[in-house]
Amino acid sequence: MIDLRSDTVTRPSAAMLQAMMAAETGDDVYRDDPTVNALEAEAARLSGKEAALFFPTGTQANLVALLSHCERGDEYIVGQQAHNYKYEAGGAAVLGSIQPQPILAAEDGTLPLDLVAAAIKPDDIHFARTRLLSLENTHHGKVLPLDYLARAYAFSRERKLALHIDGARIFNAVVAQNVTLEAIARYCDTLTICLSKGLGTPVGSLLCGDKAYIERARRWRKMAGGGMRQAGILAAAGLYALQHNVARLKEDHDNAAWLGQQLQQAGVEVVDQQTNMLFVRVPAEQVQALQSWFAQRDVLLSVGPVTRIVTHLDVDRHALEQLVAHWKAFLQR
Ligand SMILES: *Cc1c(COP(=O)(O)O)cnc(C)c1O
Repeated sequence: MIDLRSDTVTRPSAAMLQAMMAAETGDDVYRDDPTVNALEAEAARLSGKEAALFFPTGTQANLVALLSHCERGDEYIVGQQAHNYKYEAGGAAVLGSIQPQPILAAEDGTLPLDLVAAAIKPDDIHFARTRLLSLENTHHGKVLPLDYLARAYAFSRERKLALHIDGARIFNAVVAQNVTLEAIARYCDTLTICLSKGLGTPVGSLLCGDKAYIERARRWRKMAGGGMRQAGILAAAGLYALQHNVARLKEDHDNAAWLGQQLQQAGVEVVDQQTNMLFVRVPAEQVQALQSWFAQRDVLLSVGPVTRIVTHLDVDRHALEQLVAHWKAFLQR
């Protein structure tokens, strides 16, 4: 089976499972799971923030991040296609009474600061209070430029907004830009990180920020049902991933670039390729046929007019060669 739907499909390796089995555990709600504490300390160190908090999912981490920044009747400015606007079931509005103000991202995945400025509401009883700017890095594979982040951060200070980065795939940006996590995270107040995508753990996300913020988040996490007990088993996978699975993300990026070239040579139109994501155009009349062609050949791919192909640590170059061969055979059928 070749699964290119997402990098969430990665499974724990034998070595990661070993680390999980060997994990020392305690009760993390009592704060005495040493492995969770070690993972949170490591995330804080890497991001240059004072503290971090472990979550079962990125969606819960993003929700708690919003709840810890905004009160009922507050507003956050966010991308129209951002995960924490579009793909989290409206959680901020439903569970937090927080109003999203979505705006269109630019071609490069940034939120243009003039559009952000225009969306900020004046202090007037007619309006929700604009409190937070939320960016996503990487955004559909696109790495936000550091000079943009620096400008966005300075802007947020000027306008008295907090700045959150949904960094579900932030380590893809770290590897693509060849910088430390801290070099990116210095331009935000808070940051979420997914361990269960390209980093390859079965479960887990982190929220990083200052101590007082993370203490608030700890209460919201308990309320959201995210206070886990012997979570050290899961945190051990996270520690393993941070140690062993970050630098290798470059292989995923190289594989996505290679696959893009191969498909282009085969006559497939490449729309975009950055980091571990490749987007190709599939003519409308081919969509269904291609979907079943792959299904019959043990390839899992969500085929659409623009098809997203995601590389990860469970697909190697050989698997991608097979994919190219299947695609060529389809076009020559
Ligand atoms: C995957 C993802 C999340 C969190 O997803 P979960 O499946 O809940 O862990 C958040 N933001 C972005 C940009 C994502 O890609």
